Amino acid sequence: MEGNAGAESNSNVDATGSSQGSDEARDCAVCLLPYVLPVKLPCGHVFCFMCIKGSILNNNYNCPICRGGIPFSILSNPVVEDLNQLTDSLKQDNRRKWYYEGRQGGWWQYDERTMNELETAFSNNFPTCRFVAAGHVYVVDFTHMMQYRLGSENIFRRIKNGDSDGVKGVAGIFVTGNVLLGRNNGLPPPPPPPGAGPIAG
Ligand SMILES: [Zn+2]
Ligand SMILES: [Zn+2]
Repeated sequence: MEGNAGAESNSNVDATGSSQGSDEARDCAVCLLPYVLPVKLPCGHVFCFMCIKGSILNNNYNCPICRGGIPFSILSNPVVEDLNQLTDSLKQDNRRKWYYEGRQGGWWQYDERTMNELETAFSNNFPTCRFVAAGHVYVVDFTHMMQYRLGSENIFRRIKNGDSDGVKGVAGIFVTGNVLLGRNNGLPPPPPPPGAGPIAG
């Protein structure tokens, strides 16, 4: 359940206190960039999902602005502030989509910002692409189609592009039903392939 903060509108008055709808008001206070997959904390402040995930992975369970609590459930059941951004991202269109393997099988689509960075690097024939997510630097190796955290090359996940089979959502946020595949009439997404076991890390 949300408190009074639930009545807040993100269009004019946002959590940073600005009421002018400026570009700055649409930026995340952690990464200082426009929100990617914004989620709302119980205190009402809004951050990118991956920025809050990074905070939790660093054992920091306090809102970066007001020090209010961050519930662990935000990772599995986030209050998504911009549902359109999430569903638009998953829509089948002419863009090539990029996915990384889930720890428990299946695939996650990268968030829009990361996907754009990957696509730019790949289409320029770069062998690798580095990006920052959840407070860590990750390396995507296009030759071996895998991703690892910088400094932890032996713990990797597979990546793929194009084929959306087995995709569960975006960047760890589950999305079910016809929003995801655009062609399954509301049925839940298919289960992960039987051979896809969990990967440490
Ligand atoms: Zn952010
Ligand atoms: Zn807060």
